Amino acid sequence: MVRMYASRNLRNCTKDCMCLYVCPTGATDTETGQIDFDKCIGCGDCVRSCPNGAISLIPYTYPPQQPKDDQCVAAVRAISHSKALQEAIAEDAMSTSDDPALFLLMKAVRRSNRLMGEDLVRETGYMLPQSGEVRRLLESLIANPPDGFPVEAARELLGLLRFTE
Ligand code: SF4
Ligand code: SF4
Repeated sequence: MVRMYASRNLRNCTKDCMCLYVCPTGATDTETGQIDFDKCIGCGDCVRSCPNGAISLIPYTYPPQQPKDDQCVAAVRAISHSKALQEAIAEDAMSTSDDPALFLLMKAVRRSNRLMGEDLVRETGYMLPQSGEVRRLLESLIANPPDGFPVEAARELLGLLRFTE
């Protein structure tokens, strides 16, 4: 059986504390917002009791990522390239149009292609979260690379990603 633990999404939590009352091990702490992983036995009572769907059960370990065959890699490349191209076309149309309606339409098309492209690469396991934490991790790995770490590829990645901070 897969071992699970509970994780709370604070954005959805209204602190009504139902999880606090039902948890058999006292793992939920509504003051800090944290669920104590060491105490959590993954029973799911808090998940079922939460009126806001703020808690999910998450596996401790994920199965290893499956290798992708060449056809899959080629398909992902082709589709993401197509999305990037459509995004660029929409951006170009935005910058040359003086029609406000067309501008808004192209803005939406640009955004939609960006989101579809990101979803595609994320769901096929290629995309890193573009957060400050990932940026700092890449920078530290470049500064002190472990044996065999692809420093140049990481540098290129740092230049390409649009980090949120
Ligand atoms: S039951 Fe849900 S909404 Fe209430 S404190 Fe727990 S996580 Fe937050
Ligand atoms: S899954 Fe069970 S043990 Fe873990 S926090 Fe929720 S109620 Fe408590």
